[in-house]
Amino acid sequence: MESGGKSSKDKVVAVVGGGLVGALNACYFARRGFQVEVFESRDDIREAKIVRGRSINLALSHRGRQALSRVGMEEKIVSKGIPMHSRMIHSLNGKQSPIPYGKKGQYILSVDRANLNKELLTEAERYPNAKMNFDHKLQDWSPDTGLMTFLRPDGSAQSLQADLIVGCDGAFSTIRKQFLRRSRFNFSQTYIPHGYLELTMPPVAGEFAMKPNYLHIWPRNTFMMIALPNLDKTFTCTLFMPFDEFEKITTGDDVMEFFQEYFPDAIPLIGVEALKTDYFRLPAQAMVSIKCSPYHINDKCVLMGDSAHAVVPFYGQGMNAGFEDCIVFDEIMDQCNEDFSAVLLEYTRVRVPDDHTIADLAMYNYVEMRAHVNSKWFLFRKKVDDI
Ligand code: FAD
Repeated sequence: MESGGKSSKDKVVAVVGGGLVGALNACYFARRGFQVEVFESRDDIREAKIVRGRSINLALSHRGRQALSRVGMEEKIVSKGIPMHSRMIHSLNGKQSPIPYGKKGQYILSVDRANLNKELLTEAERYPNAKMNFDHKLQDWSPDTGLMTFLRPDGSAQSLQADLIVGCDGAFSTIRKQFLRRSRFNFSQTYIPHGYLELTMPPVAGEFAMKPNYLHIWPRNTFMMIALPNLDKTFTCTLFMPFDEFEKITTGDDVMEFFQEYFPDAIPLIGVEALKTDYFRLPAQAMVSIKCSPYHINDKCVLMGDSAHAVVPFYGQGMNAGFEDCIVFDEIMDQCNEDFSAVLLEYTRVRVPDDHTIADLAMYNYVEMRAHVNSKWFLFRKKVDDI
């Protein structure tokens, strides 16, 4: 397609951030024939021994699957996912009660974050017009010229000018810093009082320690634990709790006392020794909700994924909404004949209200999951939803 005198083949699209949304977006832009350059501050995670990310696994749902399907990746990812048809609520007395996610046959999938990211990078690289630049940390960029400066591990700087810059550099986006300097840019950032910590539940005699096709939840009002299954038959348990409470637990014995009181059924499954050590392996991580608008600057730059809308993880939609950003943008590219000035304006108009709604729903579910998920009111509402 032609726009602004250059064909898509001649235009450079820089995707900053090779995480989940950046890697998928690279496929979308490469399919259209743009010269795609992905810049990622980390080393290539396909070669790294340890991949640091924000959660070991995550829930992939319908909107995320649709976005994968457009670039031919749905089956590849789904085949390595574990279906979760229901939540499994663990009461204090060890009783387990399933609550389906939807109608019969509907489910969400537990997928491995690192594998998903690796597969998407490999897919993007299959396009001859897409180039990966690892170890390139964006330092600054100009909204007037599209000139970006990257810092390399040896301390040197490298520059590149792009026709369009797609900011997929996550919740603490460097791209977004230029937006903050501009008039009429709305921005809000809220840290919730809770942090999270991950623990591993190993297999028992080579099998899952709990029923695998469920998202297990231990709701305990002010805090909760959840567990999602992995392909290696482990579960990743995530404890969400106010930082004040985390700080009260300072010894292995404190951990045991706490688990004995609130999650007694999980103790033999995680293991006493593992609990006592793994609990202190990493400090609890913070969770932030970020809303902003507009998502674009002129015809030069657009924010997608967490850089535009980081959400708290209680609705399981952060990545899914980021993946949906890619489809929505792609559809608008068709409608506006790839004219960036029209596309970016329309993208902000269409996408901001939807992403803000996801952020609000996630915040609402922050209370719902730990407090209401086992209440009579919740069970009643689930029944109404299922009709
Ligand atoms: P990121 O994954 O943060 O990727 C950003 C990338 O940009 C990174 O690779 C980073 O290295 C790179 N980068 C950063 N700065 C620079 C720079 N200056 N220069 C170059 N590169 C840079 N979502 C779901 O849909 N389902 C779930 O079940 C779910 N569970 C979650 C559980 C937890 C505990 C948390 C914290 C989040 C969860 N999420 C979930 C949300 C999901 O993790 C995010 O929405 C998703 O990772 C966003 O992807 P992204 O590519 O926009 O950002």
